[in-house]
Amino acid sequence: MGLNKARLVGNYNTLTNQARPFLMQKEEIIHLLKSTGEEETALQAAAEQVRRENVGEEVHLRGLIEFSSYCRNDCLYCGLRRSNAKARRYRLDPDEIVAVATEGVRLGYRTLVLQSGEDLWYNTKTLAQTVERIKKMDVAVTLSIGERSYQEYKDLFLAGTDRFLLRFETSDEKLYENLHPGQNLSDRLHCLGNLAHIGYQVGSGHIVGLPGQSLSILASDLLLLKELQPDMVGIGPFVPDPDTPLAHVPSGDVNLTLRTLAICRLLLPWAHLPATTALGTLDPAGYARGLQYGANVVMPNITPIKYRANYQIYPRRGAQSEAAGELAKARKLLGAMGRPISSSYGHSLKPGRNTK
Ligand code: SAM
Repeated sequence: MGLNKARLVGNYNTLTNQARPFLMQKEEIIHLLKSTGEEETALQAAAEQVRRENVGEEVHLRGLIEFSSYCRNDCLYCGLRRSNAKARRYRLDPDEIVAVATEGVRLGYRTLVLQSGEDLWYNTKTLAQTVERIKKMDVAVTLSIGERSYQEYKDLFLAGTDRFLLRFETSDEKLYENLHPGQNLSDRLHCLGNLAHIGYQVGSGHIVGLPGQSLSILASDLLLLKELQPDMVGIGPFVPDPDTPLAHVPSGDVNLTLRTLAICRLLLPWAHLPATTALGTLDPAGYARGLQYGANVVMPNITPIKYRANYQIYPRRGAQSEAAGELAKARKLLGAMGRPISSSYGHSLKPGRNTK
């Protein structure tokens, strides 16, 4: 197919002019996913150029608070799944969440991400009051708590929540059902539609390297992102957890994940794309590499260490430190890469999007 950077970037310019979007074609995405050598270098260079031109050099730091490891779902790949009897469960009460958020704001974060398993112990009122208290600290708030009703999403938005992360995980209905007992893709997509309708800045994304995922499915994942046009996209490799049914499935391929990220940058030039924790878990240089394949966001963990070991989606690697230490690591990395840290809230850069 002979792809080079000029052709890929030329194609992206074509995309923004909304004429003949060549990257929409699945075969070409599959070709890019398989690319090696010069073609892969061209893909990376194109993604970096598009990243620079659309979201700039700045990197947004979001402070991640993992506030509950309870989950009502049973996703086969996730260590938090309800059937995992070995998982140690914890919940931060609202005062603790606010205390962690206060420390995050003190450290300088302009966005906090509140993530948990799907834990209905936190009803809408509790969550809304918690968000209201955090919003008083002049910080953007993202929730990542899974599927809820339209009304619940609406109430949480009215409480001040700015953004919501909900990955679709895979675009293949059958694979989705195999991996998520009792759940289905259309409910997930319905939730994503509700979030967008309500006015959230929406994040979605998928996992690379799930068992049963072909390159054709991965290309469809990217095409689904193109269709959904989310403000943010999280793409990370599958990391096996020893206490799940997928314990012996090999990890997702880091290089394939990086190529997926780069293609995503070409498809959604304005999107906020994190160098994900899963990437940093599989490859000690994963954050840096993600930031060299189109990413512009890092999410340092600010959950108190005493809880962090029990939020085991998959085993973490590397030494963990408290919030200030994780932030120092991120600053050091970005300093060494010559990438400035954004001092803004890091709202969506999607054209035509109004943020609160
Ligand atoms: N419960 C919320 C939800 O469903 O959106 C948020 C928490 S969930 C643990 C966050 C993300 O972790 C999921 O969207 C999934 O993509 C990712 N994840 C879970 N297990 C994983 C694994 N073994 N490898 C890679 N990513 C994983």
